[in-house]
Amino acid sequence: MKVGVLALQGAADLHLEALRCIGAAGKAVRRPHELADVDRLILPGGESTTMSMMLDAADLTEPLAERLAAGMPVLGTCAGLLLIAAEVSDGRPDQRCFAALDIGARRNAYGPQTESFEVDLPVAALGPEPTRAIFIRSPIVERTGAGVEVLATLDGHAVLCRQGAAWGCTYHPELTGDLRLHRLFCEEAA
Ligand code: GLN
Repeated sequence: MKVGVLALQGAADLHLEALRCIGAAGKAVRRPHELADVDRLILPGGESTTMSMMLDAADLTEPLAERLAAGMPVLGTCAGLLLIAAEVSDGRPDQRCFAALDIGARRNAYGPQTESFEVDLPVAALGPEPTRAIFIRSPIVERTGAGVEVLATLDGHAVLCRQGAAWGCTYHPELTGDLRLHRLFCEEAA
């Protein structure tokens, strides 16, 4: 099984490193043929507005929309969550959301970069030990649809959730060396 990491912009390298650490075959995805070659995909943190424009420039927007519509497993982290959300508030008007996950999220909702923070986050799906969750100019999930399973919350808002094969988290799981979310995402049957 090949796990792609969208590598146009943002925190792709550490996701590839996390995949290497769990023995998964990680591949950087920058072009349509690279997307066609992977079985599942991680959309990293970074800047969702920039990534949206770069997807267009790389001719990846339509192929990605097709793969997501066909049910390819996807994990969107932070900016990546915004890309797979159904609605984004405070985004650019031309920012693309692929609606793989029936949530509404507000960009930069905790404030600017200086309001970034870390917490120990209990996530039962990952086991008894909390995970260290790092929030960097993260979005807040303001709405979760009926089909969305919420796996962790902070202040009453989902920070990790999934809908079938589409997973989203508002923090940066690649920054801590805690590999449990990557493992869970890769081990789940498609
Ligand atoms: N604020 C960024 C955005 O709007 C997300 C930040 C992040 O991915 N750490 O895309």
